[in-house]
Amino acid sequence: MTIRVLPPEVASQIAAGEVVERPASVVKELLENALDAGAKSVAVNIIAAGRTLLQVADDGAGIPADELTLAIERHATSKLVSADDLYRIATLGFRGEALSSIGAVSRLTITSRTADSSAGARLRVEGGIIGRLERVGAPVGTVVSVEELFYNVPARLKFLKKDMTERRAIDTLLTRYALAYPLVRFKLMDGNTPSLQTSGDGDRRAILAALYGVDTARQMLDVLAEEDGPSTGSLHPGFLPGGQSLKLSGFISPSALTRSNRKEITFFVNGRWVQDTPLTAALIQAYHMLLMVGRYPLAGLFLEVPPEEVDVNVHPAKAEVRFRNPEVAFSFVQRSARRALLAYSPVPQVAMQNLWGRPDDRPQMVDGKPQFDVAWVLGHDADQERMTVNDQSSTVITQPSALEKVPLLRLIGQIGATYLVAEGPDGLYLIDQHAAHERVLFEKLMRQHEHKAIPSQALLSATVVNLSPASAKLLEDQLSVLQHFGFQVEAFGQNSYQVRAMPSLFANSDPAAALCALVEDFEEDEAPFQNELESKIAGRVCKRLAVKAGQVLSPEEQRALLADLETCASPRTCPHGRPTMIHLSVDMLERQFGRKGAR
Ligand code: ADP
Ligand code: MG
Repeated sequence: MTIRVLPPEVASQIAAGEVVERPASVVKELLENALDAGAKSVAVNIIAAGRTLLQVADDGAGIPADELTLAIERHATSKLVSADDLYRIATLGFRGEALSSIGAVSRLTITSRTADSSAGARLRVEGGIIGRLERVGAPVGTVVSVEELFYNVPARLKFLKKDMTERRAIDTLLTRYALAYPLVRFKLMDGNTPSLQTSGDGDRRAILAALYGVDTARQMLDVLAEEDGPSTGSLHPGFLPGGQSLKLSGFISPSALTRSNRKEITFFVNGRWVQDTPLTAALIQAYHMLLMVGRYPLAGLFLEVPPEEVDVNVHPAKAEVRFRNPEVAFSFVQRSARRALLAYSPVPQVAMQNLWGRPDDRPQMVDGKPQFDVAWVLGHDADQERMTVNDQSSTVITQPSALEKVPLLRLIGQIGATYLVAEGPDGLYLIDQHAAHERVLFEKLMRQHEHKAIPSQALLSATVVNLSPASAKLLEDQLSVLQHFGFQVEAFGQNSYQVRAMPSLFANSDPAAALCALVEDFEEDEAPFQNELESKIAGRVCKRLAVKAGQVLSPEEQRALLADLETCASPRTCPHGRPTMIHLSVDMLERQFGRKGAR
């Protein structure tokens, strides 16, 4: 399509706004142009975090010489003709604003050549003033160089962050796009230092490794789901007619691999990076009950829907989209992610690879004594790899999955006033009483909460708790949440509160301790979503009020704790992700005692 200036009635319907606010936003616009031009290879060069130079070179279709001058006009685009096209945009760009905006605030040079032209053309723009078109030798494709960004807008310059921050933003952007477009070769040069390079061979996992490191990349789970939209006349009339489908591909982390914030969750919708999207909430819902409180998964997910199902014209930087039928898209994402999570049989194994120190199963002898290097490796992060590569020759105890229930346990007793010992059908269990009780309380409380029925119990005598002014402020903000959970707390003079009732679940606990758990501030990074706030708070209260290590429990209490644990949905970890139990299987015991495996 040729480039033309949009008629005013179309231009006025475009979500307007400054798209150029920092070097990374320039890179984003130029990158999108290269991808729209069908580039198979994109090279980005930056100097001084893009302030001195920022160059994007592609091998795409190029711009015909006689359209080059037009390309830098405001609202000049080859991607859109009529206002109707706005509702089925298949390209990343459509506003015709980027080149003109960039040209207005920098010294811009565009060199381009199309395949059917024998020479290339070059055009310079300085602070919005367009120079003369030159004929130059150039390969097919386009090179856009932006020098001295914001040289004529000192106010913008002042707002730029430290070089390191601006560089990181460019890095993040490029890595995300590299992941989204695995068939395109990307290269980022920072001065003379290559900082990212992908092969364009379609292997997303290799790019993941560049993004997260090899260990993490290896653990990420594949997501691939495709669904036909419901036909017309169904629940969502008009959605996806004629056998069109929804597709979700990419990666999500297993529930044991998490971060303390949502920054590693990336969504692309129809090839467009969208941020701050409710899709993130849909993904987190897929981890319901699997995720530790305050932890978030990692994900790179690519959603494809028919273009007419999303409105991309809502945000100046095109970083948001609006779905015509949000519930359909969200539930699709949630279901697909959940399925991927459950399909992967999580193997929180207890590996005893180094049990004998040697792969041949025989204990290593030192001073005539076998060395028992019993290294318990629980299913976490870097260790996961070690566990899953365990071969036949090393001793692996496969623990039932985290999703499975605990088998019926026969209590043997308590040791060290900290652990319960129990026998199950397949061996011995050591249970951390604190972690187990935390899990039990948490699930009970959340279950009651889901059913909106948290029994509350009035205290015989109201307890007064004095707080620091800062804590009092935090508590004040959470009084309504507290009420939901069956606490009745009232102001009682300055920075003092009176606890009149507690959830029955905590009937015998110290009200002051409960309040203290509520007034610890959240780290800035983990500021929870509103819908997570409650589970986070519940997690904290349960942690504070659970029985402690070192607390002697009566046999009845021990038995009750085991029985409660058996009814939990995720009995194997506490809400904060630590294991509640260690399993010593019969098989492992036999190996340890040399009845099996040792020759
Ligand atoms: P938009 O991408 O919204 O159309 P831009 O200002 O970014 O607006 O670009 C204007 C036009 O210039 C595009 O529509 C396209 O035709 C052309 N163009 C820009 N960059 C490239 C490129 N790298 N390769 C080919 N054509 C390009
Ligand atoms: Mg563009």
